[in-house]
Amino acid sequence: MPARILAPTPDALAEAARTLRGGGLVAFPTETVYGLAANALDARAVRRIFDAKGRPASNPLIVHVANEAAARALARRWPEAASRLAADYWPGPLTLVVEKTDAIPDLVTAGGPTVALRVPAHPVALELLRLTGLPLAAPSANRSEEISPTTAQHVADSLGPFVDDLIVLDGGACTVGIESTVLDVSGNEPVLLRPGMLGLDARGHSTSEGPARSPGQGMRHYAPRKPLVLVPANEPPPVSREGDGLLVLPGRPAAAAALLYAELRRLDADPRITRILVLEPPAGPEWDAIRDRLARASALLTE
Ligand code: AMP
Ligand code: MG
Repeated sequence: MPARILAPTPDALAEAARTLRGGGLVAFPTETVYGLAANALDARAVRRIFDAKGRPASNPLIVHVANEAAARALARRWPEAASRLAADYWPGPLTLVVEKTDAIPDLVTAGGPTVALRVPAHPVALELLRLTGLPLAAPSANRSEEISPTTAQHVADSLGPFVDDLIVLDGGACTVGIESTVLDVSGNEPVLLRPGMLGLDARGHSTSEGPARSPGQGMRHYAPRKPLVLVPANEPPPVSREGDGLLVLPGRPAAAAALLYAELRRLDADPRITRILVLEPPAGPEWDAIRDRLARASALLTE
């Protein structure tokens, strides 16, 4: 059966929660991108995520929790920095990497001693967490290396053929539109592993020198199927040829992030377009996360 896109009614949420408690998969909206969720405490359920996505086991998952107390329960140590950041940014698009307890299966963390935790700022996600009473491991709800989904229809298109009878809770278009900022607070100094739309540079964690590589994070990620070429803003554009589709992002970073993946998917699906040109965003740390995703989308290297 193809994916079922359901409005988040009490009945649909109850069915989704039952599915998750029974070890199944459910796709749900968050403010960043749609997630493919499973019970994070059940290794067999988590295995289904990797199978559905075709995701390499070397790429760890983010665990979604209802609040800071639920996050602490999964951490061996909860550093002062985690308390401070959770107070400032949760619920929100910030993922904190901390030392894990034994309750978290190794599969979730790609065998590592740390776990990535986040409280999503979306009413449907929070309601699902409350109803299940479980931490939910949830990477983006797309096949591995594809563009992340920002609508329920994107999820159905990506994963429908790969998950039997998948429930996709429809929360509308994601408001942030790109993946969370990932910050490792398990050591002495916070380390930025993935830039996102939070201005953490203002707190002394500079995003301007580019992201440190997270374990398992492939270079070519978030990529359309067609070649994507970045066009430097200050140079004459490359000779346009038939089949070129040009993407010019909005001038404000938040608006650009909210549109980026939907626009890339649209250009990727348009049969008249064979090559995607994207006008490079301006300089400045507020564009780091978008530049990061575009660099990955245009990279020819694979993991
Ligand atoms: P996704 O769920 O597809 O948005 O990707 C999750 C990303 O979070 C991974 O690719 C890593 O970059 C990062 N991540 C998750 N868990 C960990 C961890 N334990 N240590 C470091 N980075 C992590
Ligand atoms: Mg992803």
